Amino acid sequence: MSHYVCKGDCKTVSDDAGICQADFCNKKGEELKICGCEDGVHSEHATAENASGGVETGA
Ligand SMILES: [Zn+2]
Ligand SMILES: [Zn+2]
Repeated sequence: MSHYVCKGDCKTVSDDAGICQADFCNKKGEELKICGCEDGVHSEHATAENASGGVETGA
């Protein structure tokens, strides 16, 4: 399920798009990045890749 994360110091996670508002964060004021991870790791490589209907060789 998609969610939005701040890649800065605050590590904010939100269900909705938004902007980082943490005063201590080095990315305050930047948009949260959409993330599609299911394990809470928020890997940069897990950004909703499955949404584009990739056809893999199913075993
Ligand atoms: Zn932040
Ligand atoms: Zn994530």
